[in-house]
Amino acid sequence: MKKHNFSAGPCILPQDVLQKASEAILNFNDDNLSLIEISHRSKSFVAVIEKARSLALELLGLENKGYQALFLQGGASLEFLMVAYNLLNKKAAYLNTGTWADKAIKEAKAFGEVITVGSSKEKGFNYIPKGYSIPEDADYFHCTSNNTVAGSQMKEFPKTNVPLVCDMSSDIFSRQLDFEKFDLIYAGAQKNMGPAGATLVIIKEDILGKVERHIPSMLNYQIHIDKDSMFNTPSVFAVYVSMLTLQWLKDLGGIKFIEEVNNKKAELLYAEIDRNPLFKGVVAKEDRSIMNATFTLTDDSLTEKFDTMWKEAGINGLNGHRSVGGYRASMYNALPLYSVQVLVDVMQALEKEI
Ligand SMILES: *Cc1c(COP(=O)(O)O)cnc(C)c1O
Repeated sequence: MKKHNFSAGPCILPQDVLQKASEAILNFNDDNLSLIEISHRSKSFVAVIEKARSLALELLGLENKGYQALFLQGGASLEFLMVAYNLLNKKAAYLNTGTWADKAIKEAKAFGEVITVGSSKEKGFNYIPKGYSIPEDADYFHCTSNNTVAGSQMKEFPKTNVPLVCDMSSDIFSRQLDFEKFDLIYAGAQKNMGPAGATLVIIKEDILGKVERHIPSMLNYQIHIDKDSMFNTPSVFAVYVSMLTLQWLKDLGGIKFIEEVNNKKAELLYAEIDRNPLFKGVVAKEDRSIMNATFTLTDDSLTEKFDTMWKEAGINGLNGHRSVGGYRASMYNALPLYSVQVLVDVMQALEKEI
């Protein structure tokens, strides 16, 4: 039986999608060729990437609104510097809410002045700073919607005239937001969309063309837009599987539908973390992530016992990020509610046993 996969990334994908992807590896479109051995310029593959790009915009409600969707490579980590390369003239404002935000700040510093308008670093990123202000003359404001390592999530985004850039790697397509407020959104595929190897970048085209520096072609968003996301060979398998996952989500009822399921999963787990005296949540309640729930045991001596129990229950990937320890249950779109129930049952069984 398939494990209950709480891995933070690469993460669980819908079983249907894996089935279709495995078929395409052997025989794509009944052409008697594999998806990964045909030309990326073939009609069959161009249709795939165009479908993936349009589904991404459609699900976010951004069709015909001046946005472009690109499937690039280099992970979200390359976006940390591409964003600055393409948008930072003099200064940019960043919100430091976690490990990944911290890395984005580090990369941007090579391109201009970086103002950290708020940070929870001193508190181990266990909350989202609020009440910060964004300088009117910043080239853009960068934030991380969901902090995958810490387990916190922004519930509100600032009202600002400055272009809004957001790393949504670990919660894109998981909840409804007013996506039109954002000028640039990026997300590594492997958290909630597909296999590693592709990064989705959604750009409002009119924010480009405002920096003076020369931008190398591979790092230049405008070139990728002009080439329909095919400047070089895209990561065909990752794009294909992302397309299947986006189609799966659309068929289910889109973000509106999945958000309700995601809320149910998170409520079930957090209720147990709060009720069960053996567990404690890590993040301030109002900032808790719907995608990645972080928690610890109140008594470290139970670690071995608890670890044995959840592994025996068929659970995978519950250990916290190597930098913070504890536990992290990642509940991405494809994780069934039933898997969360299995975890809650194990937590209750531990309580009964001691
Ligand atoms: C995983 C993650 C990243 C890094 O993604 P890569 O694709 O591995 O570069 C960046 N930001 C967030 C929020 C993440 O969860």
